[in-house]
Amino acid sequence: MNKLIFATHNDHKFGEVKKLIGDLYDLVDLDDIGITDDIPETGDTLESNARIKARYVKEHCGNSVFADDTGLEVEILNGQPGVYTARFAGPECDSEKNMEKLLRVMEGEENRRAQFRTVICLIIGDNEYLFEGVVKGRIATKTSGTGGFGYDPVFIPDGYDKTFAEMPSELKNQISHRAIAVERFATFLKELGN
Ligand code: IMP
Repeated sequence: MNKLIFATHNDHKFGEVKKLIGDLYDLVDLDDIGITDDIPETGDTLESNARIKARYVKEHCGNSVFADDTGLEVEILNGQPGVYTARFAGPECDSEKNMEKLLRVMEGEENRRAQFRTVICLIIGDNEYLFEGVVKGRIATKTSGTGGFGYDPVFIPDGYDKTFAEMPSELKNQISHRAIAVERFATFLKELGN
């Protein structure tokens, strides 16, 4: 089975993607290949950050690699926090602080439309490919649920009345931004015959 490196340290994301890729590839993460540092995300778009991370690993390991970058894009905030989603409440923030800030800046706001957008950059050999997945929904007025990670307790996907954090992980993993992007990329890999 061919080795495919997922440029992440996030166990939640790795688990989600591993389920979606199945046994198509021997999926490994950054810790598995001895990269323990965080790769700097210096781009100003999700696309450029996904590229930066994938190219960094490609340069260090020379293997087939992919990286993802995700942003929460809130309509009333003109698409913010977007590329700053992980650092919304400042450089030393965590998910709790990020959600707290989001709920605070949206207090009393009627338009709660938002979307999660994931971009995946895949590098195989000398070729780079980008895949996108979007899930539309709304920001709840309070946190609910304990599943998932990141902003899951405040994001309610369209067609549901529960946050991602209240759903069984299997359901989130069928409908999420990352699931859509990974499905596109898995289909591509199958067609490529790798
Ligand atoms: P990253 O691009 O995966 O580093 O994610 C950027 C930010 O989006 C981080 O704050 C994550 O917690 C958040 N995020 C990414 N994916 C999800 C998700 O599936 N649910 C909730 N938050 C997420």
